[in-house]
Amino acid sequence: MSARECLNCGETPSSLKQNGIVLCGIEEGYEYRELAYEFPRHRWVDWKDAELAKAGIRPEAFDKHRRTPMMHLQWVGCDDTVRGHIAAKPEDVGLFADREGQCILCGRAPVAASGNSVEGGE
Ligand SMILES: [Zn+2]
Ligand SMILES: [Zn+2]
Repeated sequence: MSARECLNCGETPSSLKQNGIVLCGIEEGYEYRELAYEFPRHRWVDWKDAELAKAGIRPEAFDKHRRTPMMHLQWVGCDDTVRGHIAAKPEDVGLFADREGQCILCGRAPVAASGNSVEGGE
């Protein structure tokens, strides 16, 4: 039987039991662990369409991310998100990208011009 991981904290029922974990949360820290995120309850079932949509996933990629942990959903590839790539503006160059038009999130460069630039209309 396949051990299902909690989509929030990434633990399985057996690892929770083994480690005596009750809370659903993400721990961080080196010298001592502290809870960085806490969820109301463990999440065992697949994400629903509406939840994936809320997380910004494109419908075409829903099936790919049914079991993607919460913490990773916000970092999925630009291609899987409704948002898509975010092209660097001139002021982003040097900070988030090497050149204008390069995606400031995944660094893929340069993003094909979509035709309509969203520059200020002033
Ligand atoms: Zn959990
Ligand atoms: Zn990108």
